[in-house]
This record gives sequence, structure tokens and C-alpha cells, in this order.
Amino acid sequence: MFAGHVAAALAIARAERRVNVGAFVGAALLLDIALWLFVLLGWESLTIPADFASTHQPQFVFPYSHGLAAGLVWSCLAAAGAWAVYRRLGTARARAAVLMAAAVFSHWLLDALVHRPEMPLLGASSTAVGLALADNMPLALAVEAALVLVGMALFIPGSGLPRDRLKALAILSLVILAFSVAGMTLAPPPPSAFAMAASSLLTVVVVCVFFAWLGRGPRSA
Ligand SMILES: [Zn+2]
Repeated sequence: MFAGHVAAALAIARAERRVNVGAFVGAALLLDIALWLFVLLGWESLTIPADFASTHQPQFVFPYSHGLAAGLVWSCLAAAGAWAVYRRLGTARARAAVLMAAAVFSHWLLDALVHRPEMPLLGASSTAVGLALADNMPLALAVEAALVLVGMALFIPGSGLPRDRLKALAILSLVILAFSVAGMTLAPPPPSAFAMAASSLLTVVVVCVFFAWLGRGPRSA
């Protein structure tokens, strides 16, 4: 799930137009940014299973980025960050903070939908949850595609962004969806966990920067 997280950010960004959509995209991908960073640092791990070519699902040990307790902590931190940054929003500042937390936590919910029961509630050895939707790949990808279309339909009308940037935003969202589909169907096993973490981290950061660039500047709406 990658495009689905971006879609959730687009839907949430509709509720506060004065916050750059890139900030919501970054929030919705925060747990993955933490995951890839922690894998590179050796604090969390992933294994590429022998059946990766057919399942396209690495096995994760990721209590600090994707545990339920951790997800709640990251959501609170994001809310605190938004509270500190969006002083200019006045009375809407608290709403921006809550929306930012919602964007972070949407990641946990969507991942819990697709991952196998490997998302711990607390620490690495605690009970783990996951509805394993990705085991039914066509359905998982259909859900992700639907999320992207709904996210775009919610964000684009009334965004106040110039038309050419909205076109670029729609194309970027669809390209991310295409990447998500390719990653879950065609992609060969990555050479190593480190390589997967490094390339994924770079991709996520580039995507966030792109959305922030497209969402920059004052809105007319
Ligand atoms: Zn994730």
C-alpha cells in the first residue's frame, strides 16, 4: 500500500485547504518514512521470503514504526508538530493538528487492512493484527485504485490550486498507483532489505517533496 496512503492524505487535505497538501501526504507516509529509516539503522527489519516473486510481501518486524501503540504516539507527535507550525491558522489550528494526526493514523489503519497479522499492538512480541487483504491481490489493488480515485475526487474540486498543478497532481497520483500495482505484481525480489529500504525511503521523500511543491503558495479558495 503506497498510493492508498496518498489517497487518504488527499481526502483529509480537503478538510483544511490552508495547509499544504504535501504536509498531509508526508503525515500519511510518516510511518513508512520511520520504517525505512529504522531498517537502514538496524532498529527494525524485513525479510524477503522465498515466495516473494508470487506474494510480493516482505515480512516485517516493525514495532516502532507500525505497532498500534507506536502509531498512536507518532500521531500525537504529528499533531503537536502541526500545532506548533500552524500558528497562523488561529482558531483552526487545533483542527489542523487533529487532521494531521488523522493522516498519520490513517496509515496504520490501511496497513492493518492489507498486511498479514504482523502489526504488533505494542512491542515486537505482543499480539499482532492484520486482515491480510494483500493475500487477495486483485481485490487489494482494486481497493487501492478506488481509494486513489476517491481521494482525487475529494481533493481536486475547490482546492484553489492552478489548473496545471492540479493536472500534475492527478498524474502524479496515478503514476504512484501504477507503481503500487507494478510493485505488487511484476517487481522482482529486491536485492536486499537494505536496498529495498534505501530505495523506498528515497521514493517516499521525493513523492512528499513533489506534493509539497504542487501544493505551495496561497490558495484562491
Ligand atoms: Zn506502512
